[in-house]
Amino acid sequence: MLQGKTVIVTGAAKGIGQAIALAFAKEGANLVVNYRHTPAEETAEAIKQAGASCFMVQADVSDFSQAEHLIKEAKAHFGSVDVLINNAGITRDGLLMRMKEEDFDAVITNNLKSTFNTIRHASPIMLKQRSGAIINISSVTALIGNAGQANYAASKAGILGLTFATARELAPRGVTCNAIAPGFIQTDMTDVLKDEIKESILAAIPLHRFGTGEDVAKAALFLAENTYLTGQVIRVDGGMVMQ
Ligand code: NAP
Repeated sequence: MLQGKTVIVTGAAKGIGQAIALAFAKEGANLVVNYRHTPAEETAEAIKQAGASCFMVQADVSDFSQAEHLIKEAKAHFGSVDVLINNAGITRDGLLMRMKEEDFDAVITNNLKSTFNTIRHASPIMLKQRSGAIINISSVTALIGNAGQANYAASKAGILGLTFATARELAPRGVTCNAIAPGFIQTDMTDVLKDEIKESILAAIPLHRFGTGEDVAKAALFLAENTYLTGQVIRVDGGMVMQ
């Protein structure tokens, strides 16, 4: 189903974005690998080894015009925009009463505004095609909060509201929009946490292991392939949040 489809993954140089890009490559999709500072050659090489086409576009997706550039380049190169995965994100953790204004703004801009920017530019293409899937990477933090992550939790909860509104707006033309809320996934983002914090998180995970990028990628594949699923949040968290 994904053979020959154009899949854009933002922030795909490493971590979850890299794993998602590779999973779609293995399904025969054409990959648009977005990166900002971290070079994306490793991702591109893995995609090519999987036998898929890869097109790299450097863009800071928190910038409205750079996000437009990414989407335009993808469409010009592969001829369509079928799946958009908004994965790019950052953390600037700190307790609320000490949090600097610039750390709040940076996280909202990088996580929430970036997601709006790419959706804003990709949705007209998808509406015209009368098909498309948008997948936004949120976090379980959006659902249950986390001390020291007021900015991050707000940005990821904002992504959920954006997901629901987008799903309703684009549904009449068959375009879906869903979110994935990962729990603790082993990447550079979580490697910086102290061992005692990691241990306390592990104790709260019923499946008693940290997740991998591949765990998240499987949910992304499922959402991209199911055209009767929209406005949903899939938690990939080892059972941390149950409802
Ligand atoms: P990561 O290893 O730090 O990778 C994040 C990637 O996003 C980096 O390559 C970074 O590029 C890129 N990026 C950030 N802002 C960008 C921007 N404005 N434009 C383009 N690229 C940008 O993090 P990760 O753990 O894979 O996280 C991926 C996503 O999953 C994030 O949205 C994160 O919030 C979410 N998530 C992660 C976890 C977890 O446990 N790891 C849990 C829940 C949700 P540069 O290196 O060039 O800055």
